[in-house]
Amino acid sequence: MKKLAKIYTDQDASLDPIKDKKIAVLGYGNQGRAWALNLRDSGLNVIVGLEREGNSWKQAVQDGFQPVHTEDAVKQADIIIFLIPDMVQRYVYREKVQPNMKEGADLVFAHGFNIHYKLIDPPSTSDVYMVAPKGPGATVRDFYTKGGGVPALVAVQQNPSGKALEKALAIAKGIGATRAGVIETTFKEETETDLFGEQTTLVGGVMELMRSAFRTLVELGYQPEVAYFETINEMKMIVDIIYEKGFTGMLKAVSDTAKYGGLTVGKFVINEEVRKRMLEAAEKIRSGKFAEEWIEEYNRGSPTIKEGLEEIENSLEEQTRRRLKEIIERGKPKS
Ligand code: NDP
Ligand code: MG
Repeated sequence: MKKLAKIYTDQDASLDPIKDKKIAVLGYGNQGRAWALNLRDSGLNVIVGLEREGNSWKQAVQDGFQPVHTEDAVKQADIIIFLIPDMVQRYVYREKVQPNMKEGADLVFAHGFNIHYKLIDPPSTSDVYMVAPKGPGATVRDFYTKGGGVPALVAVQQNPSGKALEKALAIAKGIGATRAGVIETTFKEETETDLFGEQTTLVGGVMELMRSAFRTLVELGYQPEVAYFETINEMKMIVDIIYEKGFTGMLKAVSDTAKYGGLTVGKFVINEEVRKRMLEAAEKIRSGKFAEEWIEEYNRGSPTIKEGLEEIENSLEEQTRRRLKEIIERGKPKS
């Protein structure tokens, strides 16, 4: 067995290493808003830095912040947290952060992409570390306000002060993550596993698995509405049980017929061929080829994303969902 990961909780983390520091949160979107609010509610000194006076700016003002332009936030900051889109970070770093940052200011990330693939090359005098929540920003905020926290990974890339891990844990505590638990990783491991997860399972794999099953039923002449309930809508209920009780709990909750069929046909469909393709996907991430491809796509204005979104929006699955929406909404628990 491999060595088990060390798990840090509230007792292992203190806010002390960052309580007198000025923390610049760059970006006020999914993660940015959640982090800024949670860190502020944890009693820390937060300033929101934004590139433009757009929607985020308005939202930050509504939430009681006085946002400033990126360079002005950076000039005052001891700790600079990048919560703008990954593809934007290197430009903002080059144009606004690097020329204005205090010597030795910390650079903090929520995902390792820019550091791991060397798109940002930080000064050797800065601590560079990561706190990566394993959940969407809205949940990071919601759990925190209800006394909980979303688990996170922490990692240290550069540590000239010798205090980078303590500071990473302090920020993890400030956003509520240590209330759940925090695991130490590396920028390499976080970046590669995060990309692999979203590609093969969370975003790509699950969606295409559901779509393939839906299409198969429809091609065989079954009603799309029935196929939708069976192959797409029920997924939430099954995943909720897996989340609460693991695979064992899920298997206990389904019929013996479903257990037998699931245990045998699952492996027949998701077979060695699929595993080979997963390895290929991992290889493309590890070699940096995926990163290269994505940067090129982004620089061309993300045409593949636009096309893909359009195809999905017009697909029979989504048309069927729109038809079933009322039924699904009516059935949701009321409290
Ligand atoms: P968002 O897409 O929500 O970031 C939006 C913010 O960035 C807004 O404040 C927006 O300002 C600003 N922004 C958008 N485009 C630009 C631009 N071209 N130039 C300057 N500012 C811009 O980011 P996320 O919160 O999703 O991601 C932030 C980081 O967190 C990433 O590193 C990501 O990998 C990581 N992460 C994200 C998770 C998630 O659940 N989304 C989970 C874990 C980590 P405006 O309103 O003015 O456009
Ligand atoms: Mg991800």
